[in-house]
Amino acid sequence: MQELYADIIVDISHEKLDKTFQYRVPERLAGVLEAGMCVVVPFGNGNKPVKGYVMEVGGECRFEPSRMKEIQGLVKDSVEVEDKMIALAGWLRRNYGSTMIQALKTVLPAKQSVKRLEHKKLQRLMSREELLSLLGECRRRKQVAKERLLQELLEQETIPYEWVTGKLGVSAQTVKSLERAGAVRIESSLAYRNPVRLKETAEKEKNLSEDQRHIVERVTADYDGGHPGTYLIHGITGSGKTEVYMRLIQEMTKRGKQAVVLIPEIALTYQTLLRFYRRFGDRVSVMNSTLSAGEKYDQCQRAKNGEIDVIIGPRSALFTPFPQIGIIVIDEEHENSYKSEGSPKYHARETAVEVARLHGASVVLGSATPSLEAYYRAGRGEYTLFTLKERLTGGRLPTVYTIDLRQELREGNRSIFSRKLQELLSDRLAKGEQSILFLNRRGYAGFISCRACGHVMKCPHCDVSLSEHKGGRLLCHYCGYGEPKPKICPKCGSGYISGFRAGTQQIEEKLKELYPDVRTLRMDADTTRTKDSYEQILSAFSNGEADVLIGTQMIVKGHDFPRVTLVGVLAADLSLSTGDYHAGERTFQLLTQAVGRAGRGSLPGEAVIQTYQPEHYAVVHAAKQDYEGFYEEDILYREMLGYPPVSHMLAVQVFAREEERGMKLAGWLARRAGALKSHGEDGKMQILGPAPAAIGRINDIFRFVFYIKCSNYGKLIQIKDALEEALRGQPLKQETVQFDFDPMNTI
Ligand code: ADP
Ligand code: ZN
Ligand code: ZN
Repeated sequence: MQELYADIIVDISHEKLDKTFQYRVPERLAGVLEAGMCVVVPFGNGNKPVKGYVMEVGGECRFEPSRMKEIQGLVKDSVEVEDKMIALAGWLRRNYGSTMIQALKTVLPAKQSVKRLEHKKLQRLMSREELLSLLGECRRRKQVAKERLLQELLEQETIPYEWVTGKLGVSAQTVKSLERAGAVRIESSLAYRNPVRLKETAEKEKNLSEDQRHIVERVTADYDGGHPGTYLIHGITGSGKTEVYMRLIQEMTKRGKQAVVLIPEIALTYQTLLRFYRRFGDRVSVMNSTLSAGEKYDQCQRAKNGEIDVIIGPRSALFTPFPQIGIIVIDEEHENSYKSEGSPKYHARETAVEVARLHGASVVLGSATPSLEAYYRAGRGEYTLFTLKERLTGGRLPTVYTIDLRQELREGNRSIFSRKLQELLSDRLAKGEQSILFLNRRGYAGFISCRACGHVMKCPHCDVSLSEHKGGRLLCHYCGYGEPKPKICPKCGSGYISGFRAGTQQIEEKLKELYPDVRTLRMDADTTRTKDSYEQILSAFSNGEADVLIGTQMIVKGHDFPRVTLVGVLAADLSLSTGDYHAGERTFQLLTQAVGRAGRGSLPGEAVIQTYQPEHYAVVHAAKQDYEGFYEEDILYREMLGYPPVSHMLAVQVFAREEERGMKLAGWLARRAGALKSHGEDGKMQILGPAPAAIGRINDIFRFVFYIKCSNYGKLIQIKDALEEALRGQPLKQETVQFDFDPMNTI
């Protein structure tokens, strides 16, 4: 018999191990072992048993056969990976830079060994007559426990086992004796933990609007014609996108295919899920961060076994091991959370396109404010663009007032509320209508500084300013460091030390100074530590338990409040000064969403945007709810400066315990990248940096970064590969390097 060898990747995350090791396949596993299985192999000098993944099985032996170690065995109960998943891991690694292990961990379900819930039940085997005669016998022998159980079995044919031993108080021995007598059988089934616990009546199908029908027909026709594509639906909230998604998913399930629906975690509200449950019943499953590893594992099993057709979840739901995906939907496709923060730093949009390619599926993106990336691709014909213009739920776009805060100050108004906002707030309170105040910040009063010398209180570990929280404590939002607020400036001893900008708590206090009877709710990272508290605040506000909801960006997403007729944006430009090329786009999205919160119901809405930069194009176009206008200006800016999506950008991030070594390594890498600059036509290349990152230190780890801009993505991949290769020969001690393609955030 021919010897078989397997390439194994060992489950230790370290750059040096980012390669395969060859092992002999024992005879008993020949014909069983295949790519993607999880095995135990002896590793290293001590032959310590470690877990590994099979990458490939073949007959070619790449080194001395007599010294080759043998695979010890399979890891039982592992969800073995489809070839597609391995291929996908390889793609992630290639395109985003990470170790193969990291890529595999990203696509594979956590193989937590969890205790499966076992459901045992008692099945009656005898006829009624037989049971009655047995019952009589037990009575005569005064076997009361047995008697109780037989009585129960007369009533019902199957009894849950816990009930037998619990409520009926019958011992396992008694059950066994009845089993021996042929009266009953103990049946056991492994139950999946289904996070969906809901039985709802099926929802009636709506007649699609002309525009909706057009989308459904086109996407389905492309699919049936063997040319599934990528589609972008640009449509405001309430324009019927979700209805289109559901109809397309139905078309796919009819064809025996499965669907993946990505929704940002924050928008995964009960209402949204309910609509899917009503349409797809228990064929739909939800993935979110509150699920235990065991629940996630079970969901993957159910997906593999064909027990569900639709999975809804955040970006990781893309890796649900469905046999044949027909459609991938990404709602709110512009959301930042679709980009992974850990390695591989993949983007769900691009990854969805690759998953779709592997499965022959369609990708449908939807947003009221599409990402520049998606809109740009649609413009170039890579995606098909559809527009839904009408709001099906009724309600008109609000009237928007842009208020120049500099002007307010010049005219003597020192309050954080402009005169226009105060006027409208008073009006709403008088009428009993609801308002939302939106602030793009967290904490009590922002940073603390000395008015005499300008000294800013900073975290000693992270190099960012500390924020004041209630109770007079200063906290670092990166590492959690805290200290009491000083009474005098530690630098010059002056007593004029205080906070500057307002947080949500301060807004609430100021509002109560103006309107002592106002009922408020506050929603920010501090009041929504748990998922429940988030839902509680939303429903309290929906039920009219407050007049004003004050909050950070989380209040502008998802969820409809028909009784809100006023939205106030307190400092529209805070998000314009983040020093990131997405700043304009994010500001536009936030403002558009915030303004769009007013007037969802039958009452007309108004919005006030307070800003120090009323002339900024993001503010101007958001006030007009004009996406195309904004796009034209922002894409021009990116074109001029060579930013994505017009060009591509690779961030090379260096993390080091010792500042000097980190800086040296970053410089060395940047020089190597520079040496790879080609003189051909594969795109101009530009290197920025290296420099200390925006936050130069977190938890005593120094951070450096440099950027490489190039219009050719493939060239950037080559550079990444070359840098990885160069790093392999380096004696790195406590430095790590990460790559981020087309980064969403500066570090
Ligand atoms: P979006 O996802 O764009 O916010 P939805 O699909 O949620 O829009 O639709 C908004 C509202 O309009 C929902 O209440 C939905 O039930 C309703 N709706 C959607 N399509 C139709 C239709 N064709 N006919 C009637 N109502 C519809
Ligand atoms: Zn001072
Ligand atoms: Zn810190």
